[in-house]
Amino acid sequence: MANKFYITTPIYYVNDVPHIGHTCTTIAADIIARYHKILGDEVFFLTGTDEHGAKVAEAAAKEGLTPQEFTDKVSRTFSNIWPKLNISFDYFIRTTNPQHKKIVQEILEKIYQKGDIYKSKYKGLYCIGCEKYITESELVDGRCPLHPNRQVCEQEEENYFFRLSKYIPELIAAIEDEKNPLHYQIEPEGKRQEVLSRLKAGVNDLSISRAEVSWGIPLPWDQAQTIYVWVDALLNYYTATKIVNKENFWPANLHLIGKEILWFHTVIWQALLLAADIALPKEIFAHSFYLIDGQKMSKSLGNVISPEELLAKFGVDGTRYLIAYSFPSLTDSDVSWNKFKEKYNADLANGLGNLAARIARLAEKSALKFSLGESLSFSPEVQEGVKNFRFDEALNFIWTQIAKENKRINEKKPWELSGEELKEFLGESVKKIRQIAFDLQPFMPQTAEKISNQFQGPVIKSEKPLFPRI
Ligand SMILES: [Zn+2]
Repeated sequence: MANKFYITTPIYYVNDVPHIGHTCTTIAADIIARYHKILGDEVFFLTGTDEHGAKVAEAAAKEGLTPQEFTDKVSRTFSNIWPKLNISFDYFIRTTNPQHKKIVQEILEKIYQKGDIYKSKYKGLYCIGCEKYITESELVDGRCPLHPNRQVCEQEEENYFFRLSKYIPELIAAIEDEKNPLHYQIEPEGKRQEVLSRLKAGVNDLSISRAEVSWGIPLPWDQAQTIYVWVDALLNYYTATKIVNKENFWPANLHLIGKEILWFHTVIWQALLLAADIALPKEIFAHSFYLIDGQKMSKSLGNVISPEELLAKFGVDGTRYLIAYSFPSLTDSDVSWNKFKEKYNADLANGLGNLAARIARLAEKSALKFSLGESLSFSPEVQEGVKNFRFDEALNFIWTQIAKENKRINEKKPWELSGEELKEFLGESVKKIRQIAFDLQPFMPQTAEKISNQFQGPVIKSEKPLFPRI
């Protein structure tokens, strides 16, 4: 029986259109999903959009649209762009889906019946940008550090609270003890430490409903309040499996997220699941951010990079390669249009494209027939790289193989060889390029397919360049 592998991206909040940040998480998830499919695992790959909350209602009103019209419009910008990047997602969930809403209400009702939700007054500073309460100590110059152009506002409400504090000892044990039946992995290690120290410092209960926000899912026992958008959103990972009858994929194997939503995905999410008697996901990986020319990406700086622009310049596999190579797995990754262009020309037009063309030309000229019956598998270095979210290391290994083969050709000068010697030499070259294509599959599926088709023998012909120079 095949292993099951369930991987998710965050569901993207529809107050924003797709940019390089969303693109990076989604391409990374696709690489991992494809890798597991090639290994023979049964994969369920989920992405989607998060569509409720005050911020969405606010953005809709600005455009003179109803929140539903607005979310339909923005959600499409996400569901339309991913196929263009060859993202192999299996389902695209939207939190305005009626089935999602119904399951969210059922789960909340269950937690309420259990006594883990109570009504109370809350007063605090709220950042609409983050859709969460923020403490004085988190403020920078009186503002939310992630949303310096928004005012935080004081909110006082009577709403419902989830007994998050009750679950903290269980969560600490689950994170720390690998033998704990509830154990889940948080990666990278620095992020695990960050979560643990915050948990140990003490955690308050969480307000999980809003009286002021009408664009949301009503609480089943008090229709005057809507469910806090984050609670609604987190539950998508679970509701999706029910909506498409993939219940057997729960619990998720991997939530791939950006570091700004670490706390929600490693603490609040697990506490809600514990309260609802649902199994916990197994692993959460939080990546860092892109810096554009050394600066944070922001609309006000005008340095936002969109997936459309990347596609127009570098094509599907060019974009996938550049994003995978610069994936900010441990620390922020500094990118720029110039660096992308240089990398594209050096590695794709020259490196890979040139090697494939060279071997094809030599093989064509030799008029030899190549019999290739070998069955291929991933190089161990590529496996390690993908497992550790170090796509750069996996790709560096592949490009080392490309450089080695180029060097071998330069040194051996096959154009001066003939007979058995030439046949042996070229046989080796074809084997190398086929292995390179195999290893490239999760990263650059179209290119990998083109190369393996071109070199499947017995007769090998030249074809037009894989990557035109920019
Ligand atoms: Zn904020």
